[in-house]
Amino acid sequence: MATKSGKYWVTWANSNALNSNSISDLDSTFQPKINAFIKALKDAGATVTVSTTKRSPKRAYLFHWSWKISQGKCKPQDAKSMVGVDIDWDHGDAAKSKAGALEMVRGFGLAVPPRSVFPPSLSSNHIQGKAIDMTINWKNNLKVKKKDGTVMTIAYMQNVNGNSMLHKLGESYGVKKLKSDAPHWSYNGR
Ligand SMILES: [Zn+2]
Repeated sequence: MATKSGKYWVTWANSNALNSNSISDLDSTFQPKINAFIKALKDAGATVTVSTTKRSPKRAYLFHWSWKISQGKCKPQDAKSMVGVDIDWDHGDAAKSKAGALEMVRGFGLAVPPRSVFPPSLSSNHIQGKAIDMTINWKNNLKVKKKDGTVMTIAYMQNVNGNSMLHKLGESYGVKKLKSDAPHWSYNGR
């Protein structure tokens, strides 16, 4: 029997549909690129903290539809079903359906308008293991090797999205920055 949307699903996802923060869970084509990029950063004296690598598709599904229903962007009946996630989005009452979805949005800590105007993606590169969220820190200037062995000097910037030198460094390793999402890097920049 399906369980109605609400807090239950946050608890469920936190034991059945977890994110990984392990580099070994990344796609086998992306993983060596990330390893080489992070090694270069660490060799140069930077610290790298990885928060998310691979995202469970079930988690992405719950994120996406709870966001859309709670924000009134679709009706509960519009949500697709997913094998292995026996959720009922429709409480038979529009306000209750919205409230159930909102409990999930809050429980997952999803960013809603105005902080984020798009629903969490169903096709994020994280699901394929081709994206990573990480924080890179250093003081002043970092003298760091590109893939070809040449050394770049990169000044620290609080706003990582604006640090085009750092993006160039990543690109030399095949790791591209999504410039609208501070911790996010991927194989194609999305
Ligand atoms: Zn990300």
